[in-house]
Amino acid sequence: MNDRKPPKIISQGGIKMKIPQKINILGRIYTIICCDPDDQGNDNLGTHWLRYTKIYINNQQDQQAKESCLIHEIIHAINGLLDIGLKEPQTRRLEAGLYQVLTENKLF
Ligand SMILES: [Zn+2]
Repeated sequence: MNDRKPPKIISQGGIKMKIPQKINILGRIYTIICCDPDDQGNDNLGTHWLRYTKIYINNQQDQQAKESCLIHEIIHAINGLLDIGLKEPQTRRLEAGLYQVLTENKLF
C-alpha cells in the first residue's frame, strides 16, 4: 500500500476509443487518466493507485504503448486486489502476452 497522495487530475482518459475513462476491476471503478509525465507526479509510463482507484497513463507514448500500459496497470490492480504476489518482471511478461493475444484477436 502506498501512502502518497495522487497527483492532481489534469486531463481524463478517452483520447482514443481503446482507452476508456472508467474501468471496472473486480468491482472497483477505476478512473483512467491520460496525462503528461509531470502531471502524474513521476515519469513512469503508467501508475496504478489502489487506494484512490486511479490509473495514470503517460500521454507521451504512442497509442499502442498506452494500450499496453493500460493492460500493465490493470494487472497491477488485480495483483494488488487479490494479493497474488506478482513482481514487476512477471507483470511485464503478462502485459506483453495479454496485449498480443487481445490485439491479434481483436478482443481489445
Ligand atoms: Zn509495473
